[in-house]
Formats: sequence, structure tokens, C-alpha cells
Amino acid sequence: MLDKRSGSRLANLWDDARAEGMSGPELLVYRSNTLGSDKRVTNYGGGNTSSKVWQKDPLTGEDVEVLWVKGSGGDSASIKLDGFATLYMDKLRALKSLYRGVDHEDEMVGYLPHCTFNLNPRTASIDTPLHAFVPKACVDHMHPDAIIAIAAAKDSRAITKEVFGEAIGWLPWKRPGFELGLWLEKFCRENPDAKGVVLESHGLFTWGDTPKECYETTISVINQAIDWFERKSDGKAIFGGEVVKALDAPARRAIAAKLMPRIRGLISEKSHKLGHFDDQPAVLEFVNSKDLRPLAALGTSCPDHFLRTKIRPLVIEFDPARPDVDAVIARLADDIAAYRVGYQAYYDSCKHPDSPAIRDPNAVVYLMPGVGMFTFAGDKATARISGEFYVNAINVMRGASTVSSYVGLPAQEAFDIEYWQLEEAKLQRLPKPKALAGQIALVTGGAGGIGRATANRLLLEGACVVLADIDETALAGAHEELSKAYGKDFVRPVRIDVTSEDQVTSGFAETSVEFGGIDILVSNAGLASSAPIEETTLALWNKNMDILSTGYFLVSREAFRLFRAQKIGGNVVFVASKNGLAASPNAAAYCTAKAAEIHLARCLALEGAEAQIRVNVVNPDAVLRGSKIWTGEWKEQRAAAYKMSTDDLEEHYRSRSMLKRSVFPEDIAEAIYFFASDMSAKSTGNIVNVDAGNAQSFTR
Ligand code: NAD
Repeated sequence: MLDKRSGSRLANLWDDARAEGMSGPELLVYRSNTLGSDKRVTNYGGGNTSSKVWQKDPLTGEDVEVLWVKGSGGDSASIKLDGFATLYMDKLRALKSLYRGVDHEDEMVGYLPHCTFNLNPRTASIDTPLHAFVPKACVDHMHPDAIIAIAAAKDSRAITKEVFGEAIGWLPWKRPGFELGLWLEKFCRENPDAKGVVLESHGLFTWGDTPKECYETTISVINQAIDWFERKSDGKAIFGGEVVKALDAPARRAIAAKLMPRIRGLISEKSHKLGHFDDQPAVLEFVNSKDLRPLAALGTSCPDHFLRTKIRPLVIEFDPARPDVDAVIARLADDIAAYRVGYQAYYDSCKHPDSPAIRDPNAVVYLMPGVGMFTFAGDKATARISGEFYVNAINVMRGASTVSSYVGLPAQEAFDIEYWQLEEAKLQRLPKPKALAGQIALVTGGAGGIGRATANRLLLEGACVVLADIDETALAGAHEELSKAYGKDFVRPVRIDVTSEDQVTSGFAETSVEFGGIDILVSNAGLASSAPIEETTLALWNKNMDILSTGYFLVSREAFRLFRAQKIGGNVVFVASKNGLAASPNAAAYCTAKAAEIHLARCLALEGAEAQIRVNVVNPDAVLRGSKIWTGEWKEQRAAAYKMSTDDLEEHYRSRSMLKRSVFPEDIAEAIYFFASDMSAKSTGNIVNVDAGNAQSFTR
């Protein structure tokens, strides 16, 4: 039975009023976006759409037939006109005379750029011939779970016939490329009344003379499959039935928080991974089922799925009725090593003399009975999307195994896709990762002036950032601003009062569940206070000590615990103050707490070095712009201490500095980035003053 949790039938969303007056290419964008808007129609980035449109040739002025087809990369839901490749149809047809047969089909990809219409820079995808050679104006190639469930069933040909009669044909598995394009053309010529084809182990092709007809065929064919599955699977046990009960949601998250950093540590030797946790009902139904192990071992089917998820997941043995997480942790290194051995064996037994070198042999998907699914990848979006793809695979297995037997792609076919030279070429074309890609940073006081600038700097270098603060309004604002700039996957807000042991522990646990662990702690939360010693109340003294000293101790201790669980080093940067080195009048509590911070950093540098944990300090001074500290009493007190108006303070500090320059939050962020990155890989226990020069705070 297919998953009905998100509602069973697809709605026909075609709106004639919206489509009215659109050009052919605009209608293609509209059709693609509408199809892609429902993940039951196609997975993220999966499938493609095309239209053959008559346009004026910019060279000859004549009307020519142009194939508009989704280019390499991109997602149907959000694709715009520039996401489509455009190619002359007459040139594409002429390629058939150059075709030397299936053993040479990959070389045809090299000819596609020669068919480009109107100098369009968008790279044509490997799937282009699948659209070009279907003799219809509009073609959709989608990956609907309901259709892949048919395509991945043992008797998929017979099921296709049973469900669709003559309307939808069936073709055996064939890797996408020139040959499959010719197969589709032949099929259409021989079956002029057919509206589409199910491709074994892969997905659906549908076509039509108009965009609306094509769209409606796609939707109705998927709905027919959904209907059929519902009728066929009524009353049948799903995945052989439930054999273990899920733990409650907080217990699942607590286990995820404990396990994810450990998994991450074991698989991040070469490059740091980001994690994603998913315990939605569809996942729990699968991981708690009798058939979990045999089905997981069969591997995923649709090539799009396993390219992201690897051919199969790693199942973590765990009995939620007798939850022994420590035993899981004790076995984890062996389990992960065994998976790597299995992956190496798959590579060795399937590789060809010219195959690309083996890639990361670690699992992407980790399934845990009673708990859910962890996915890990080089960046957060890929980790999340890999999880989404495995949910697609679960849906496919649910459908196929309920009505028939589910069959994964044969190992050799899977390998030939995974290590296809054309896929390798795509990977080689990817831009070089940014300096902090794969790194997770937690910034305390992340909603303040220096914290926000720091988060911005780390995000710019590709890190994922948790903003931790007590000011919930400012936190929401910072989160919104930064996730708009860098994408939702990269930023999380978490309310932490650094003086509360419980909140610090739970905030770090949240970080582990959201991203998989931590690499960088920027301990920056703070305040400023000013009072002569006789007027310094115990409350004021304690407040400074609590936030600036105890708070820095609590967050560092928690970071150290996580670093040690991951065993891949770590990086702590304290934002102290010039006042931690240089005594200042009427600020004894603040100065003393800042001095404690600096000495704590040195002690931690000493303790952490053997585990590759570095601890360094950045000392700002007089950062007025953006800082909340400088909007309150402190500003007035400082202005009063120097007998000037608050408006003159910035100029006062500038002219007081040796370099005669103002210091901005971005300047502090730059120094923090230096310590947080490998640029300072060989520095620990150090201090950088960013104060435009102040002889009093020279270190010695
Ligand atoms: P800011 O007030 O703009 O930011 C500090 C942030 O810390 C605020 O968002 C605040 O809500 C948060 N915070 C306060 N108490 C907290 C707690 N208990 N738990 C969690 N969060 C808490 O100030 P800023 O200028 O960005 O200061 C950042 C750091 O730099 C502070 O440690 C400060 O002492 C230090 N510093 C600043 C200056 C300067 O001139 N701005 C100079 C020297 C040192």
C-alpha cells in the first residue's frame, strides 16, 4: 500500500486562466513547476520535462523546431526558463547517422553542445535523447513513487498491463542515454495510441500534443497507479507487520543526539560530514517492521535514489524494548567498518578497467529500529535530500512488496550508474568546497552585533551555524536574515542561557540532532557593566561572573564532551575583551570576568591539544556599531566617564587607538574566522587583539 499520510490522490492543478497567453517555453516552465510542486510526482531534482517549440532561428530568420528540455541539475519545482537547454531538433535527429551503437552511446553526449540553439549556456543532460526522439510535442519523465513501485516489482511488466492496459507500455531497464531514446521512438512508432511507458526499475514517461494534455496524462496515470495499489493492498500487512514499537519522540531525539556525533566522527576522517535526522511515520513504519533487514539489503531501485543514498543503508541493531544505547555505541566502529568492507567488495566485483576510483565507502543512510533514520553527506542540503530520497525508496518498497516482490537494481547495473564516466564528469565539474564546508559552528550571543557578524562570516565560508542566545526576538530576526541569505539548511536558532547548565546541555543536544555534531564553538555571549568598586553590588559582580566566566566554562565543557565523542578535533574561540588584559577604571567586575575567560581559554588549550582541540581568544575593543552593549547604560556610563556626549564616543575611541581606526563587528568576525579555520591550524592558546592598536593590551 502506498503512503496515504499526505493524502492519496493528486489534484489536477492545471489552471487555464494562468496558462492563457503563455508562450511555449513559458508553458513548459508552468507545467514543470506544477508537476514538481508535489514530491509524489517526482523526487527532488529527479525527472525532466520537455517541449518542442517552433521559433525563429537567430541566424537565418527561418522558423525551426527547438527542443526545450530540462538541463543538467536543477529541480522541476523551481526551474525557470534559464534551467532549460535548447537544441535544434533537425541537428538532434541528424545525430542518428553518427551513432555507432550502444557500446559507444556515451560519446553521443559530446555531440549535444553542437546542437545548441541560440548560444544557450545551459548544459544539456544525459536524458536529452529520451525527449528528442519521442515524436510528440511534449514529454514528461517523472519519478513518482507509485509508478516506481510498479517498475520495481518482480512482475512489473504484467502489473503495468493489468493497471493500464494498452494505454501505457513497458520497457525493460535500460540506463538513460541515446539507446533508450531510440527505444522510446520505436515504441511510439509501433504503439501510436499509447500515452506513455513505464521503464523497469526507473520511472514513467508520458507524452501529449499539448502541455495541458501531457500534464493531465501524467497526473491521471499516477492516480490510476495509486488507486490500483489501494485496492490490491487492502488488508495486507505492510513490510510483514510491526515487530518493535517506536520510542516516544523525546527519547528518539535523545538517542539521535547521542549517536549522531559518534557516527559523524567515524565517517568524517577524510572530510567532515553533516547529518540529518528523520523520524516521520513512514520511516518508523519501515524501521520497526519485520522486513526491514531483507528489504534494506536489497538496495534502492530508481537510479536517482541510490545515487544519493548509496545502493543500500546500514541497519543499526537496536531493540527499543530494551534500549541499550551504550552497547550500540560500543559496536558502532565495527558496524561502520563492516559496511565499508562490503562497499569495497561491491566496488571490486563490479569495477571496469576504466572505472573512476572508489569514492567514500561509508554509508549515507543509517536505519535504527524504534528511533528513525540518520543520513550523512558532505553538506546539510544533501544529507536532508538523501533522507528524502530514502523515504521515496521506502514508499516504493512498501508498494512493490505489498503486491508482489520488490527487486532492487542488480549490483552491476547500480555500479554502472554510480561509477558512470558521465556521472563522474558531473562530480568533477562541481565547484571546489568552501573553506568551512562540512563544519558545524555554535555561536553564543549569536543574535548580538559581533555574534551575528561572526555567523555571517562562517556561513559565507560554507559552515552550518547554530545561533544561540537568550534574546528570542533578536534571535528570530537574526535567524530570518541569515537563512534568507544562506538558505534554511544552513542556520538554526536555539535559545540557550549560557549560565544554565541544563539549557547548555539541551542546546548542544539540539545542535547534534540538527546537524550531527559540532566543530567550532564561538563563545561570545556577553554584556558590559560599569561601576566603581564601592558601588559594585554582589548581584552585578555575580552577573558578570555568571555570563562571562561560568557561561564560558559551561559551553566549553559541553563542546569538549562532544569533540571527544566525535574524535575529530575541535575548535573553540572565546570573544573576550581588551579589558581582560588591560585594567580599566570603574569596571572591575567586567574586567575580572574577562580575565578569567582568557585564562580559562589557556587552560583548555592545554587540555585539548592532545585531541586536536584548539582554543584561542579574540579581544575586541570599542565595537560600537551593531553592538547591543553600546545601546544601553554602558554607552552612557562610558560617555560620562570620559565627560563627553554619547555621539562623540566612536570618534573618541578611534582617535584613542594607535592606528586611528574604528573597529567594526566584521573586523572581530574576521579574526574569529581565522581561528576557526585551518588557516590557524597550528595555533592554540593564542590571543589576537582587534582594537586598532592599544599598547596597554599588548600581550607578553
Ligand atoms: P551584543 O550585546 O550586541 O551581543 C551580546 C549577545 O549576548 C546579545 O545578543 C545577548 O542577548 C547575548 N547574551 C547575553 N547574556 C546571555 C546569556 N546569559 N546567554 C546567552 N546569550 C546571552 O554585544 P557585542 O558587542 O556583540 O558583544 C559580544 C561579545 O564581545 C561580548 O562577550 C562582549 O563582552 C565582547 N566585547 C564587546 C566589545 C564591544 O565593544 N562591543 C568590546 C570588548 C568585548
